[in-house]
Amino acid sequence: STVFNNLSVLNPEHIPANLPHRETQIKELTVSFKDLILNPGGTSIRTVIVGRTGTGKTVTTKKFGKELQDIANKKGIRLFYVHVNCHRQRTLYLMLMEIAQSLRLPLPNRGLSSQETFKLIYDYLERKNIHLLLTLDEFDYFISTSPVEDIYFLVRIYDELNVNVKRLHYIFIVRELTSLSSLDKSIKDHIIKNVIEFPPYSSFQLYDILQDRIVNEKAFKQNTVTDEAVKFISDIHGADKGGSGNARLAIETLELAGRIADAESSPIITIEHAKKANSKINPEISIITDTIRDLDLHYLLLLKAISSLHKKYEEDFFSMGKVEEEYRNISSLLGEEPRRHTQLFEYIRRLKLMGLIITRHSGKGMRGRTTLISLPVPVSVELENLLDQEIKRRLQ
Ligand code: ADP
Ligand code: MG
Repeated sequence: STVFNNLSVLNPEHIPANLPHRETQIKELTVSFKDLILNPGGTSIRTVIVGRTGTGKTVTTKKFGKELQDIANKKGIRLFYVHVNCHRQRTLYLMLMEIAQSLRLPLPNRGLSSQETFKLIYDYLERKNIHLLLTLDEFDYFISTSPVEDIYFLVRIYDELNVNVKRLHYIFIVRELTSLSSLDKSIKDHIIKNVIEFPPYSSFQLYDILQDRIVNEKAFKQNTVTDEAVKFISDIHGADKGGSGNARLAIETLELAGRIADAESSPIITIEHAKKANSKINPEISIITDTIRDLDLHYLLLLKAISSLHKKYEEDFFSMGKVEEEYRNISSLLGEEPRRHTQLFEYIRRLKLMGLIITRHSGKGMRGRTTLISLPVPVSVELENLLDQEIKRRLQ
């Protein structure tokens, strides 16, 4: 027997029917994009969404985008909403491929440049009289890893086309506005026309979000979740009570509390289950797990090398040389051609940006200066299993 009724509504990808406490943000989005409905093609609309992890940026934008698309389509405006995650589509080229795919626009197999791909997409929009609302989620990541020309291309090319009908509209999602500060002023002025903030959730807001999943989305069987359990989880994570205000963590804690109740054959989720769940949920781990699922093979192999060094030796940090040696061993065991040294340096830099490793420079005592590398969390069986499982999937 189980307390769960519908586990899938607790999945981070699930889009609930209601988004409590995001009414203001949705209204602001509606105002920003009203011209897309009233006067489509008049201007290219750009909006920036800013907020910490778990503040509902992704879910709110997706829901808004789909609804706007429906409204437009009903009025005979051919609007397409496309949501690109810059973490998954790491380069301008991959991003454009994703856009083409969402539009069901087949691309030739021969290698096209980003410029050529964009041209194909653009011609298609023209030909079919389509307007595109493009959300670039985790845009901070694109900024910190992409050549400035690519950012420039993505954000400004449209103006240079000198067309009458503006078909491309953007929502940029970032964690902090300062991530935009590294950009050229001209690009910045282009992006920051309109900023919508997503503040961390307070305890009572998280309470409403959790209750919505319980009551309206029917994640659990009726009357199986005690009010004290929900209050406890909301208080732990509420920004006004010293928590991070992260709804994802609150939902994950509730789900884990349910699993613990099931494991103990309890028909209800009590505050004790919530406490046990809380002691197991490590916010860092849960963010890391998500990121790891999106990684390419050689990033995973590098992480496995570092985790294996942590297991073999008592040390906290390892030199790049040591990591590379372990990485080569692991690669050859799996029959994979190892990447070159310069490439690995780039991977290490990106893993650091994603928060998957921490680095520091060797001080005195070592010959020369070298980068020292460590994992930001202790090596656990779960982490090892996750890495192995993802590596296996990539090799299939
Ligand atoms: P972000 O993109 O800001 O990191 P997400 O949009 O991924 O945050 O939200 C994290 C989790 O919390 C998702 O499961 C999402 O459905 C849920 N969530 C966030 N805000 C709300 C809300 N206002 N109402 C209901 N669920 C929410
Ligand atoms: Mg997000």
